[in-house]
Amino acid sequence: MTSNSFSSLPISSAFVANLDSLGYKKMTAIQAQGLPHVLQGKDLIAKAKTGSGKTATFGIGLLQKINPRFFGVQALVLCPTRELADQVGKELRKLARSTPNIKLVLLCGGKPFAAQKGSLEHGAHIAVGTPGRIQDHLTRGTLILTGVNTLVLDEADRMLDMGFLDVITEIIAETPKARQTLLFSATYPDLITKMCRTILQEPVTVSVEAEHHDTVIEQTFYQVKNQQRKNALLGLFEHYQPETALVFCHTKIQCDEVARYLQEHQIEALAIHGDLEQRERDQVLVRFTNHSCPVLVATDLAARGLDIKSLQAVINFELPHDPEIYVHRIGRTGRAGETGIALSLFTEQEHLRVKAIETFQNKPSRCDTGESLQPNPGFTLQAPMVTIQLDSGRKNKIRPGDLLGALTGDAGLSGSQIGKIDIFDISSYVAVERSALSQVLKYFTNGKVKGRSVRARKII
Ligand code: AMP
Repeated sequence: MTSNSFSSLPISSAFVANLDSLGYKKMTAIQAQGLPHVLQGKDLIAKAKTGSGKTATFGIGLLQKINPRFFGVQALVLCPTRELADQVGKELRKLARSTPNIKLVLLCGGKPFAAQKGSLEHGAHIAVGTPGRIQDHLTRGTLILTGVNTLVLDEADRMLDMGFLDVITEIIAETPKARQTLLFSATYPDLITKMCRTILQEPVTVSVEAEHHDTVIEQTFYQVKNQQRKNALLGLFEHYQPETALVFCHTKIQCDEVARYLQEHQIEALAIHGDLEQRERDQVLVRFTNHSCPVLVATDLAARGLDIKSLQAVINFELPHDPEIYVHRIGRTGRAGETGIALSLFTEQEHLRVKAIETFQNKPSRCDTGESLQPNPGFTLQAPMVTIQLDSGRKNKIRPGDLLGALTGDAGLSGSQIGKIDIFDISSYVAVERSALSQVLKYFTNGKVKGRSVRARKII
């Protein structure tokens, strides 16, 4: 029997109170299944994806073992992308609030090496990062892993897809053998199974695969001719009229083409893929998550690890060969009790992919043709918000409250006209209602934040 109350776990009441203050009243399925083992110090293989509460599953575990008086890395979390590492870092910091003096360092590419080196020299207890940059630190002798007692591999399948196997193996070789290893993966290709055999000891396996797909995700497959694919995509938007959607493509070029096509047809869309520079990726994600871009067109790799809430539709511009990837893609809609729609385009030649999905899900796939879609030629999809970029950020000691204060005070906006605020090192992004755009830009031609002039521009 597993109880789903955090107080049933061998953790302090202060820790439980902190979880409560974060709104974590009950354990999620992966936490209820995994945490008792994790807290006993066992190795764990967890089949779980983003959104399941997996970060807290390893986070609560690793935090119990940190000795704040020992100034060395005791927990190492490997993530495939910088975005995921950022999210994991944020979540761990929240979880660590009840444990004083715990320092966490993010070790990701695209960020200055020297600052990370400095944080390590000051003594970080937890390191979260991407394999490439972690390996750089090891090579240059700026990171020591001999004190690691918890090793976490987050989205292990994706790290292997990205070709990190050798790097990961080298990193693990630098950690003590007597450690606890926790491996999280959404899928289980052979390579993962093999890797598990070598890096985990007598692991417990838990799985919370596809809990809710049947009930809340409506899946429909539309057969189209290859040359009609883009037109059919438009048809899906006109027919279903989702307010937010994630469109999956196979290649980077396809992502760019599809995003451009949608834009030409009055559907605001942005592409995200591995060819974008870090700054461009940041901007795309900021705009999508702050509701100033309703549609994201992505490759599987780029979409991995994005913590996107309340997505109404997932659209497969092309179906993946692997049915497990399909299930993973569509799992991004219909979260947390909401209903989502999963729409897929396929050609006659790709019919076998639909069949494979049918077999994998063990239920018939609902198929239709593009002709059944109700055309709505005047349809447009525009985000309710726009994003303003400011040329000041964390390094200028700007905090969200400062921007909120300037906009609701001197600039005269009401709080409800302002959306998400994202602060980066040397820039910040504020989402504002479209109708307030000119007022905000006008304010920043002379207006100040914390006594300093700040330049602002709308991101297009
Ligand atoms: P993750 O799968 O780790 O990305 O977590 C998904 C989201 O669920 C995050 O925003 C967490 O803050 C949140 N979360 C994790 N555990 C719980 C819980 N027990 N109750 C409520 N929310 C949770």
